[in-house]
Amino acid sequence: MTDIQKNRVHEMQRLGFSSRRIATALSLPEGTVKSHLARALRKGTLPAFDPTPHSSCRQCGVALDQVPSRKRRAFCSKTCRQRWWNSHLYLVDRSSKAIHHLTCPACGKTFTVYGSARRIYCSHPCYIRARYHKEDSDGR
Ligand SMILES: [Zn+2]
Ligand SMILES: [Zn+2]
Repeated sequence: MTDIQKNRVHEMQRLGFSSRRIATALSLPEGTVKSHLARALRKGTLPAFDPTPHSSCRQCGVALDQVPSRKRRAFCSKTCRQRWWNSHLYLVDRSSKAIHHLTCPACGKTFTVYGSARRIYCSHPCYIRARYHKEDSDGR
């Protein structure tokens, strides 16, 4: 496993995901994830999963009011939810309806966006390139 993968395994485990779910999200064999977690736990490099409910927004850390009988809220707002998921795209279930697979018209690369955030280009440089390119061809 690479360091990035290890970090992601730790992060997902901290968030309470099962090893099967972690394995799927990172395209790793479940056994690899399990033995890595067991080893890290033994060595004490892995903080044990804290089952106490999050009472602050995962994205901005603002305190959340939890309604005891309802599902725990993890975010203060839709904006924070989308922002968080967009920076944790590898955690998103690929079959989720909230995930959109788009093709960048500037470089042709496919990229993924979570939620209703509408994006056309994969990155800001592509947006700039597409704009200048358009202006160039307009002048001819
Ligand atoms: Zn927030
Ligand atoms: Zn692009």
